[in-house]
Amino acid sequence: MDALAREPAFSPVVSVSSVFKYTLLNIIPVLKYSQEMSKFWNQRTQRLQPYVPGEQPQDQRYIKLNTNENPTPPSTGVLKAMHEAVDDGLNLYPDPDCRQLKRSIADYYALPVENVFVGNGSDEVLAHIFAGLFDHNKSLICPDISYSFYPVYARLYDISLKQIPLGAGFELDLGVYPVDNGGVIFANPNAPTSLAIGRDDIQAFLERNTDSVVVVDEAYVDFGAQSCASLVGAYPNLLVVQTVSKSRSLAGLRVGFALGNPELIEGLERIKNSFNSYPLDKVALAGAKAAFEDTQGFETARQEVIRVRNQASTRLRKLGFEVLDSSANFIFARPHFLSAEAVYLGLKQAGVLVRYFNAPRISEYLRITVGTEREMAMLVEKLIQLKQDG
Ligand SMILES: *Cc1c(COP(=O)(O)O)cnc(C)c1O
Repeated sequence: MDALAREPAFSPVVSVSSVFKYTLLNIIPVLKYSQEMSKFWNQRTQRLQPYVPGEQPQDQRYIKLNTNENPTPPSTGVLKAMHEAVDDGLNLYPDPDCRQLKRSIADYYALPVENVFVGNGSDEVLAHIFAGLFDHNKSLICPDISYSFYPVYARLYDISLKQIPLGAGFELDLGVYPVDNGGVIFANPNAPTSLAIGRDDIQAFLERNTDSVVVVDEAYVDFGAQSCASLVGAYPNLLVVQTVSKSRSLAGLRVGFALGNPELIEGLERIKNSFNSYPLDKVALAGAKAAFEDTQGFETARQEVIRVRNQASTRLRKLGFEVLDSSANFIFARPHFLSAEAVYLGLKQAGVLVRYFNAPRISEYLRITVGTEREMAMLVEKLIQLKQDG
C-alpha cells in the first residue's frame, strides 16, 4: 500500500521492430524495464513514475504482512449495510454530495458537516489536494522517508518537491521546516517508519506556518497517535486526511476523507466535481457510514492490532531485531543476523510476504504488517528458522 518502492517502472514497448524486440525481451528480461515510450503517450504520461504498490498475489498462498491491511474482516453490521445497498436501487446514481456518510464522519469527530470531504480512497483525496490546494509555483515540503505516493503526485501535477531528511533515528522534526513553501505534507504516524509525533509539535508548526496548506496524513492514527482533527477549527490551513482502509478493515471498499476548514473543503469539491461527480458508489457509501457508526467493532479490532503489535515487537527484539516504537499497524524492524533483503526473500520462500524497500537509508529494514496473532507466530517461527540456517 505504501512507501518508497523503487522498483523500475514497467513500460510496454510499442514500436516498429516489436517482433524482434519481443523475442529479445524474453531472452534478456532486464530490457523489459527500458524507458521506451509509446508515440501515443503525451509528454505528461511519458514523464510519470507511477506508484508501485506492495505485491498483491491473487493466489492466496501467502501470509500477507506487506500492505498494512487489517486482519479482522468488517463486522456483520457493516456487511449488512452493504448488502442492503446492493438490494436498493443500483440502477440509480448515488448521492453526489455523499451527505449521509459525511454526516456520520462529522458526528464521529464532533465537527460540522461542512468540515468533511470524502473520496475514493484517501489516495484520491490526496491527489485532489495536490491538484487544487498546493501552490504549484513554490516547493512542496515532505520528509525524505515517507509515503512514496507523495513524490508520484508531485510529478503528476508538476509540483517541485523538497524532501527534508528525518533525523538519524528517523524522527520528524517540524521545527526545521521552512515556512516559505507551497504546502507541507507528512504522515503521522509516519510510514514506513511507524513513528508518531505529538499533536503539540504539529500545533507549534501550525502557529508558524500560516500561509500554505498543511496536510497531516493520518492513515494509521487510530493505532496509537493523537489526531489533529480537533485542530481544524482553529487552523484554516490544516487538512487532516484519513481512510477506512486500515483501522476500519475496509481496504477493499476504497473510501477516504479529509477534515478541514470549509474553504479548503469547498476547493476540494471544485476539483472533485471537475473530475468525477460520483467517485463513491452506493455500496461504499453505505459500508463506510456503517463503519463509523460501529464504534464497538472498530474498538475491538484496533485494540487487537495494538496488542498483537506489542507482543510481536517484543518477540522480534528477543530475536535480535532493532524494532522502532510503532504507533501504527505495522512494525519497522532491522534484522542483524542477515541482510533485510535476504530475510525478505527467505520469508517469501517460506510463504510469508513482508515489505522490503531497496531505497536509501532504509534498505536494512523491513516493514511488517501486524496480522493475526497466529500469523505473527508463524512469522516468528520462520524467522527463527532463517536465523538458524543463517
Ligand atoms: C494506506 C495509505 C494511504 C492510502 O489509503 P487508501 O485510503 O487505501 O487510498 C494513504 N496514506 C498513507 C500514509 C497510507 O499508508
